[in-house]
Amino acid sequence: MIVTHKYFLKFPKCETETPIVYHLVKDYDLEVNIFRAKVTSEGEGYLVLDLKGKEVKIAEALKYVASFGVSIDTIDKGVIRDDSLCTHCGNCLSHCKPKALHLADPVTRRIAFDEKLCIACGRCIDNCPMKACSSLLE
Ligand code: SF4
Ligand code: SF4
Repeated sequence: MIVTHKYFLKFPKCETETPIVYHLVKDYDLEVNIFRAKVTSEGEGYLVLDLKGKEVKIAEALKYVASFGVSIDTIDKGVIRDDSLCTHCGNCLSHCKPKALHLADPVTRRIAFDEKLCIACGRCIDNCPMKACSSLLE
């Protein structure tokens, strides 16, 4: 069965030049959709991506990735929303394509954040008038 999962991969300094994504495609027959990537001046890096393929191949690929000391997170994509700053104005809804930010209750109009769906595109950060959304990755 073909599945798609989102991951946040954080690379240690020593492995950023390893062509890991190339091997995910070639050796594990996966489709890789990168949403966000960065290599810091210190040489560390991160990728926010979808992996699409057979569940068993994804599991094998993640073992391969982890063997380089890469940390793998399925939920935290490095974007946070400070609930104490959010006024539930709804401005972010149209900017959040994967609907990670969504209307939780049509009566109270409260906005909820589902970290699992977030692809760390950063649009909510740029468009929240209250600066309630921020990134741990900058
Ligand atoms: S735009 Fe900001 S303040 Fe408005 S609902 Fe979204 S996170 Fe909350
Ligand atoms: S960064 Fe913000 S706008 Fe982009 S997917 Fe995550 S919650 Fe939605």
